[in-house]
Amino acid sequence: MSVVAYIGLGANLGDAAASVQQAVRDINDLPGTTVVETSSLYRTAPVDANGPDYTNAVTKIHTSLSAHALLRALQGIEKQHGRTRPYRNAPRTLDLDLLLYGEETVDDAELTVPHPRMHERAFVLHPLYELNGQLVLKQGSLHELIARCVDQPIHRLR
Ligand code: ATP
Ligand code: CA
Ligand code: CA
Repeated sequence: MSVVAYIGLGANLGDAAASVQQAVRDINDLPGTTVVETSSLYRTAPVDANGPDYTNAVTKIHTSLSAHALLRALQGIEKQHGRTRPYRNAPRTLDLDLLLYGEETVDDAELTVPHPRMHERAFVLHPLYELNGQLVLKQGSLHELIARCVDQPIHRLR
């Protein structure tokens, strides 16, 4: 059985745009997984942290992996891209967050889906809106949620 999932991508070390684009290809290469559509790239300032600006995007996939298997596969891709976690919100070569996994809710030690902070992040909501403007999260419609993030500057790259 195949599920529609959305993955948030972010990077702010090295050639961040190239890393995000390569990561989309890596996701497409995962077993039982196909990338359906990917948003534009966006540029945003770091939230609660210093360091270079982020390049962000969201990709929509079809996958037969379970939510946990998908998370572990995403962590494997982060590792291939040299991701380290020296401290919270540290600059990173690649961050892959599982935003939505079908209609499922998961909340355990490893995984929380829908991603618990996605509704308050311009760098998630804008690219997600590009892929599916009709989407409604439990906190509200994307349209409403985006209106609450006007204080977070975000720039869509060509
Ligand atoms: P944030 O989650 O606020 O975006 P972050 O991406 O910087 O922060 P990480 O260090 O990448 O945080 O991840 C910390 C832990 O979050 C991971 O070890 C993972 O098990 C857990 N986690 C829980 N839910 C998710 C999810 N939906 N997607 C990715 N990781 C998740
Ligand atoms: Ca993240
Ligand atoms: Ca993460």
